[in-house]
Order: sequence, then C-alpha cells, then structure tokens
Amino acid sequence: MWKNNAKCAVCLTFDCDSDISWKNIMRRTGAVKEGEPFSPVVLSQGQYEVNVAIPRILKFLDKHELKGCFFVPGMLAEDQPGLVKDIDRKGHEIGHHGYSHLNPARLTPEQEMQELEKGLRALEGLLDKKPKGYRAPAFDLSPRTLEYLCNLGFLYESSMMAWDIPYIHYVREKKLVEIPFNWLTVDWTYFAFNFFPPLEYQSGISSQEEVLEIWTEEFEGLYDERGLFTLVMHPQAIGRASRMRMLDRLINHIKKKNGVWITTPSQIAEYWLETYP
Ligand SMILES: [Zn+2]
Repeated sequence: MWKNNAKCAVCLTFDCDSDISWKNIMRRTGAVKEGEPFSPVVLSQGQYEVNVAIPRILKFLDKHELKGCFFVPGMLAEDQPGLVKDIDRKGHEIGHHGYSHLNPARLTPEQEMQELEKGLRALEGLLDKKPKGYRAPAFDLSPRTLEYLCNLGFLYESSMMAWDIPYIHYVREKKLVEIPFNWLTVDWTYFAFNFFPPLEYQSGISSQEEVLEIWTEEFEGLYDERGLFTLVMHPQAIGRASRMRMLDRLINHIKKKNGVWITTPSQIAEYWLETYP
C-alpha cells in the first residue's frame, strides 16, 4: 500500500502559531477587549517558539536526518522571514496556515478567501514557490473551505479525521487529498497551558511519559494496520526541553521498526493521488 512496500507512513508536522494565535484567543474569549493591550507575558509564550523552539526542532530533525512540515501563517512569514526561509532551506516543507491564524469557520466568505490569498502571497513572495498543503487555523473549516482550496490549486488539506489513511475530497471536478490527524496525536491537547481563559487552557500539564505511552501505542496500532501516523505539534508546546527528549525517544522507537516511511505530507499526498487515483 505504501511506497517501497513500507508498512506504515509517519508525518511530523509543526503548526507555527507564534504569538499570533494568542492574540486571537485573548480577543475571542474576551480576556482582552478591543483597544486594550495584550499581556506581554501571554505573548512571550509564542515568542519562545521563534527564539528557541523552532531552532531546537530544526536541530533535532537534522540529527535524525528527517524532513518535517511546518504550517506557517502568512503574518509569521512576514515578521520572521529569516527563520521561515531557514526552514525551507533545510529542505522541510512549508504549508499554509492562514494569514493571521483566524478560524475560517468564523469568517464571512470574503474574509475567508482574503485570509487564504494573503497567506499564499506572503509564503509565495518569500519562498518563490506555492505551498502544496493547508492546515486550518484552530483546526476548523467552513462549508466553503474545501472548494476554495481546490480553486486555489492546493494538493492537500490536513485538518480532518475521518480515516486512518489519506483520503480524497471530490469537489466538483477537482480532487483534494486529505492527510488526516486526530486529537490523540496533537501535542496541544496535553501540553497547552495559560492562566486565562481558565476553561480553555487550565486543563493541566501532562506528563511526557503519559503522552509517550499514548503516542507509542497509537503508532504501534497504525503500524500493524498499515495506517498513517500524523503527529501534529506546536513548537511552543513540544519545543520545551523535556518534551523534545520524549519526542527523541519516540522517534528512536519508530526508527527501529522495519518498513516505516517517514516523510512530508506533500510526498504522501502526491503518492496517494498517483497510486489511488
Ligand atoms: Zn495553528
């Protein structure tokens, strides 16, 4: 089923929300009212991503000789062109993650298209190539998103969870590959924490041992069933020292298994379209 008769496929993906998503969260939940300044402490969590976490992850991927995929909001590409170029230069994939990380489901049709186009312009302008994939900010899609992505020429989308293997959305005459994930394999579920808003971000900080156990079992199950194991990570969450040690143990475990294809989502999407048109 997989390339070169691999038993399963693995994708390492990183959603680079920086402090952009914190601003949206603070506004949406009313923690910061329109016109009020943002807490520099809250924003500094996102700045850690740019200062420490992404460079640490890049070093980690180099050490393991692996390629990952970084989903980048257009605004981050504009604010941190050197960093985003560096990710690209190292051969990792860059995917589209909105422009200002606004949830597409909460936008008007015009605003949604604007976010998509602005994000595309920012990434294309910087990298001189078009991103092939999209992951929705806040993992949410509007009823229009798939059609918009097809019209803009995207190869794949990665915000849904209907199967353990890639699948294809048929939108009018066009096809869009889905690279599915699940909440189980999202670091944010276990590691995100902030004092406010309390209901959303005070679920506690999980032990990395517990997360390693959940991720390893999910990988083993999908390995046996020849599935796709997609890890969705946020540099500001996974990129802390203790959690990177956990990721190191997981990757070492995965690398010991025979027939695992560790690759980028665009490679998988291209293979899927060719093999199962
Ligand atoms: Zn995000």
